[in-house]
Formats: sequence, structure tokens, C-alpha cells
Amino acid sequence: MRKMKITEDVTWKEITPAGVIIDPGNAEDFKTGDWRTMRPVWHEDKCKQCLFCFYVCPDSSIKVENGKMVGVDYDHCKGCGVCTEVCPFKAFDFVEEKK
Ligand code: SF4
Ligand code: SF4
Repeated sequence: MRKMKITEDVTWKEITPAGVIIDPGNAEDFKTGDWRTMRPVWHEDKCKQCLFCFYVCPDSSIKVENGKMVGVDYDHCKGCGVCTEVCPFKAFDFVEEKK
């Protein structure tokens, strides 16, 4: 990720336009999980591996390895709760985030 020039001592000629630089494919670089106020807590013992949660997560934060759900990517999960609603087997709790 390139560095933004947006400090008090940067002149108007040097400042990064609109204060942002957008590189293609950079979503991985931004850890957006700290926006979260609620946290999905997965219970492996209740999970039947239907992967409904994977298909509905808007942030691609359901981790899948070898075709199986293995956990939640808390660096990027924003706590929308969709996975907890869609799971037919009640394999998630949805709890308040502790900072
Ligand atoms: S929706 Fe529920 S049962 Fe299906 S993979 Fe996700 S956690 Fe497991
Ligand atoms: S709470 Fe939302 S963002 Fe987080 S894993 Fe579930 S569906 Fe994805």
C-alpha cells in the first residue's frame, strides 16, 4: 500500500488527492474488523459444513479450507450477523464485541 501524504506540513500541491490512494485489489490490506460492535462466535461441534455462511458473508470472512468451514476471519469480519442468521444449525452465537 502506498503512503498517503496528508499531514499538516504538506502543501496543497503535494497532498494526496481527496486524501486517498486506491490500488486495485487492496481490500486485503485494510483490517476492517475493528469497526465491529458484534462478533459471531462459531461452534465447530454444531457445524454441519453446509457452507451457507460462506456464501452469504458480504466480507468474505468465513474461512474455508479444503471445502470446509474452519472459522471466522476477525481481521475483516464487520459483525453484520448475516452468517448467524442463515446458519440452519445454530452453530454461531452473536455476542457483543469486547474492546
Ligand atoms: S452455516 Fe452453520 S452449519 Fe453451515 S457451514 Fe456455516 S456454521 Fe457450519
Ligand atoms: S458477521 Fe457478517 S462479516 Fe462477519 S463473518 Fe458473519 S456474515 Fe461475514
